[in-house]
Amino acid sequence: MRTRIRNARVFDGLKTIAHADVLIDGDLIAEPDDRPADVEIDGSGRTLLPGLIDAHTHTFDGDLAQALRFGVTTELDMFCLPGNLARQRRAAADRDDVADLRSSGVLATAPGGHPSQIMDSPGVRDLGDAAGAFDTVADAGQAKAFVEARLAEGIDYLKIVIDSGHVGGLDLPVLSPGTVAALVEAGHAAGLLTIAHTVTTRDAVVALDAGIDGLAHVVTDPLTDDLAARIAAQGVFVVSTLTYFEAVLNDPSGAELVRDERIGSKLPDRARAALDRDASVVPVRPDGVRNAVRAAGTLHRAGVALLAGTDANPWAPLHGAGMHREVLLLTEAGLSAEAALAAATSLPARHFGLADRGRIAPGLRADLLLVDGDPTTDITATRAIKEIWRRGVRQAS
Ligand SMILES: [Zn+2]
Repeated sequence: MRTRIRNARVFDGLKTIAHADVLIDGDLIAEPDDRPADVEIDGSGRTLLPGLIDAHTHTFDGDLAQALRFGVTTELDMFCLPGNLARQRRAAADRDDVADLRSSGVLATAPGGHPSQIMDSPGVRDLGDAAGAFDTVADAGQAKAFVEARLAEGIDYLKIVIDSGHVGGLDLPVLSPGTVAALVEAGHAAGLLTIAHTVTTRDAVVALDAGIDGLAHVVTDPLTDDLAARIAAQGVFVVSTLTYFEAVLNDPSGAELVRDERIGSKLPDRARAALDRDASVVPVRPDGVRNAVRAAGTLHRAGVALLAGTDANPWAPLHGAGMHREVLLLTEAGLSAEAALAAATSLPARHFGLADRGRIAPGLRADLLLVDGDPTTDITATRAIKEIWRRGVRQAS
């Protein structure tokens, strides 16, 4: 099957081309030619983008399908128990109507550490085999065995939690700096990318001292220019998750997403119900949203690779839909619309080693999103979805 999108504006993941034809041949983007295609699509007045990559999710049954309906073609999961992970992987491999998935599998945290208090909270127990007990790390001596157990489960990268919950009034056990360092070392020795959950500057410094590769959130306390410069100098990427802080702090600004008909009309009822979440078990500062948006701007200006991620979970942010709020918040943090789009496409692909996606170029996977209007000047145009392809398969609209 050959599909040609004619005369579209093309954001290729890095830059914008005013008018171009893009050819899909099978599951790949092909070199344009003059031979007839099976399907011809008029792209005039529209913009073609790489499928979006959400660089921070928690994926449960049904989420990969919802993600794809909103143009998210790949989710990078940041904590998944083995039974659930096997099921999501199978769906991503076998089905064409769901987003693709990479995952950290079980994250590394201290016994009883974050997010154990969430795993023990009422709604989570309803998730069946996707919740419950999981391996933890008591001391540095257990780091290597923990990483080996995760490798046996086929994880794609290692996630390490450094968070006592104190910013949210909690007092949870936390990995010692020495244990964090041992985990990063064991992860690197196994060829894994290492990513830390931190939401404060103090904990981010522990991760940086350990030689971490990426941070799964921006910080929610005031970020200094010096720390931003250090993050840049170490080449550490940071996942934004601004919509997550909005959601857990019940910030009213985020409600515009669901009110936007372009998003709201596509949401299942279960997603609306999920917005009424009790987030009291989540460690976050009351002024976390404003600090997080400022931190994102400071990091971007310092030259840090900022990756768009929502922390989508069974409640809010919403899988798929949340990315359309995340890129808007990135522009409010000071990124240009093009930079926000790169944060949602080429940057996560590059930093997570996904060389086959995240850009529009011959030979790459045909994970594509066609929208009305021009999101390179009006970022909310990402919501005006006309067509979605996942590995070349056109999705029902
Ligand atoms: Zn998360």
